[in-house]
Amino acid sequence: MRQRTQLHHDHSRRRRGATLPLVGAILLLLPLLAGCGRVAGGQSQGGNGPLKAVATTTMITDLVQQIGGERVQVTGLMGAGVDPHLYKASQRDVSTLDGADVIFYNGLFLEGKIGDVLEKVGKTKPVVQVTAAIPQDRLLASEDYADQFDPHVWFDVSLWRYTIDPVVEQLSRLDPEGASYYRGRGDDYQRQLDELDAYVERRIAEVPPGQRALVTAHDAFNYFGRRYGLEVRGLQGISTEVEAGSRDVQEITAFLAERRIKAIFVESSVPRRNIEAVQAASRARGWEVAIGGELYSDALGEPGTPAGTYTGTVRANVDLIVEALK
Ligand SMILES: [Zn+2]
Repeated sequence: MRQRTQLHHDHSRRRRGATLPLVGAILLLLPLLAGCGRVAGGQSQGGNGPLKAVATTTMITDLVQQIGGERVQVTGLMGAGVDPHLYKASQRDVSTLDGADVIFYNGLFLEGKIGDVLEKVGKTKPVVQVTAAIPQDRLLASEDYADQFDPHVWFDVSLWRYTIDPVVEQLSRLDPEGASYYRGRGDDYQRQLDELDAYVERRIAEVPPGQRALVTAHDAFNYFGRRYGLEVRGLQGISTEVEAGSRDVQEITAFLAERRIKAIFVESSVPRRNIEAVQAASRARGWEVAIGGELYSDALGEPGTPAGTYTGTVRANVDLIVEALK
């Protein structure tokens, strides 16, 4: 809405400018004036209301809300249970993006089908990849796509910490008067994530070492496994675009029986039929494996529920995993 007001404002300037002498010089200055106006308009003072941010996934919506507080109005494109690998932008999303001051996304090809839309909108406003500050040597290679990284970085809490600074910096750039507010909230959130990281470590330590294996619907948990010491097997690959074959089912079933793993998990953003096929195949082989419950994988829980935040989701996941495996 403010963007529209801003444009209207520019037009009125232009009309006034045309009636003055030295029209050419004034017209040359117009882009500069308009530029300054936009930066000033980004502040929440001056009756313009809060900054308008758009985030792609639920994890990023929560991240920007945690840091932006009351100075930022965050709209998430994807809701709870939505699979970002397959998500396509609707017409409504395009107008939401058009009305935003800034857009935050995961990158690493997580939102594979809206890359073009983000690139286009990035020509007129900041579009920020929140994972950009993660050191490259801590990223895992994609098992499905050569020359790409595994995008599921949020499952390693010590990596997700790196998303805080890019958000603090971008919000501060658009709203300089809020800079210390954003920094304070970012530091506070950093402490919460440090505590969360330690909590996950403590809980996983309750599972006997031989049972630390996580079998799920798709390969979302490789960062989780690396950080917290679990062997991870996903039925589908890194992206849910690639369907699981019967060979994958046989391999995973053999692994479960051999290691005597007690539970496997369905995911909130992936249909459960694949993981049920593993359970049936395992039973046929004589090893009874339970479905340990539903993990939040590529989306948080419903807003307003305990798993409606990133920290709540990570806690819910690790509690479920530990209770089912130990
Ligand atoms: Zn995924």
